[in-house]
Amino acid sequence: MHNDKSVTSTIGHLIDGQLVTRAERTQPVFNPATGQSTTSVALAGKATVQDAIASAERAFPAWRNTPPLKRARVLSKLKVLLEENADQIAAMITAEHGKVLSDAHGELQRGIENVEYASYAPELLKGEHSRNVGPGIDSWSEFQALGVTAGITPFNFPAMVPLWMWPMAVACGNTFVLKPSERDPGSTLFIAQLALEAGLPPGVLNVVNGDKEAVDALLQDPRVKAVSFVGSTPIAEYIYAEGCRHGKRVQALGGAKNHAIVMPDADIGNAVSAMMGAAYGSCGERCMAVPLIVCVGDEVAGKMIAGLSAAIGDMKVGPGTDEGNDMGPLVTRQHFEKVRGYVDAGVAEGATLLVDGRGLEVPGHEDGYFLGPCLFDHVKPGMKIYQEEIFGPVLGIVRVKTLQEGMDLINAHEYGNGTCIFTRDGEAARYFSDHIQVGMVGVNVPLPVPVAYHSFGGWKRSLFGDLHAYGPDAVRFYTKRKTITQRWPGAGVREGAVFSFPSSR
Ligand code: NAD
Repeated sequence: MHNDKSVTSTIGHLIDGQLVTRAERTQPVFNPATGQSTTSVALAGKATVQDAIASAERAFPAWRNTPPLKRARVLSKLKVLLEENADQIAAMITAEHGKVLSDAHGELQRGIENVEYASYAPELLKGEHSRNVGPGIDSWSEFQALGVTAGITPFNFPAMVPLWMWPMAVACGNTFVLKPSERDPGSTLFIAQLALEAGLPPGVLNVVNGDKEAVDALLQDPRVKAVSFVGSTPIAEYIYAEGCRHGKRVQALGGAKNHAIVMPDADIGNAVSAMMGAAYGSCGERCMAVPLIVCVGDEVAGKMIAGLSAAIGDMKVGPGTDEGNDMGPLVTRQHFEKVRGYVDAGVAEGATLLVDGRGLEVPGHEDGYFLGPCLFDHVKPGMKIYQEEIFGPVLGIVRVKTLQEGMDLINAHEYGNGTCIFTRDGEAARYFSDHIQVGMVGVNVPLPVPVAYHSFGGWKRSLFGDLHAYGPDAVRFYTKRKTITQRWPGAGVREGAVFSFPSSR
């Protein structure tokens, strides 16, 4: 039914409810499993972005005044359409990103949960009310929409991360301009079209594809009141500084280098299975991936290495479309080269490469961006492969003597997105959760991604701004509080002038 939406030679923009392509720069979009370009994406210039902002600004007054329940019903309908179109959306994600189909479905499911939560907006926007804060005086706080808001999203979750942002923004009465990743824009645009089909009025959600030029046009435009960003730390820092400089509210989520601690009393079998998915799932291209295992004691390290090496031997790497594959290709050739360069650097820096995925060949897919799983031992702070985010299937073992030594390493790292501990010791787990300087913590849970009704965010250089993404924090991010204090003087309460500071007496 919706097939026509995916087939265009150039992926354009969605402005004012219309698909738009203009004579502007374009960039090829590749299928990472074949290395072939499947289509191209338009890269919006300033004028196109300004048109999208103008459309969002026109749509704002009516949408702001649309009852929250009616706004929410659009999202309820969208949820149904997303479920009905799940196979097609997952196929689009896999075709452009490379992740295996089951993982693409998983991503979409987590996105749908955010649509579901945003559809509770009437409840979330009820505000706060206090009667008789003074004689005959009532006071209440309401949460008003900001106006035109914007989102800039990364390649690694082309369906889910945009759904962290715009459904709640529009549920709160804002209009939105979304700038997806130019590397895999197909599913993002398709979902925006489904939103129109669900009844979202034209202009409430606009999509502009593009790169830095489009992003800068959003950041510099005074009509844009707030910007949500998810991507790498250098760009997050830039977006935060530039957005704030232009007077906007900004939340900018950045990169990560997540550590897992494995204690001597841990269930090693469980830790090995958990770490396989956490390190190599989606080819390591997740901001909550765990690329470092901190083993407390050499005995733990030995057991983890034995378990991981065996499990890696059973892994199937190949195109994400083939059922049974555990891991697909990296997203682009450029990223493939970068990740392989990190493996070279790890060897040069003296870490022990136990499993080398660099020679992997996938028959029939010789031009795909496939890198096999890599496993390093004796990774040490100071090495590039310890310090930097690799964003690939490269797992490192770090050896420490005590839990505290492991925690000190994590706390000293510049990133603080996610972390986890594997143990049977409740006291150790509690101490770890309490003192670790990281925003999202798992206890025997490798990827502690909060559900849609909590909020998602790291600490330190993994997030710039005050409020986390989605969940309750998103309601606050996409609204401004207004507090109204009201009295209706009647015959009984009329007073003369009062010169002292009013109190509740
Ligand atoms: P990226 O920073 O390269 O790109 C993110 C977005 O910024 C894209 O839309 C891109 O077009 C835009 N962009 C890129 N360069 C820009 C520039 N110079 N000026 C303005 N805009 C620019 O990130 P990516 O490679 O697409 O995604 C991977 C990164 O995202 C990883 O670092 C990962 O950890 C991070 N990430 C973080 C989270 C989180 O919640 N913290 C979630 C997913 C991904």
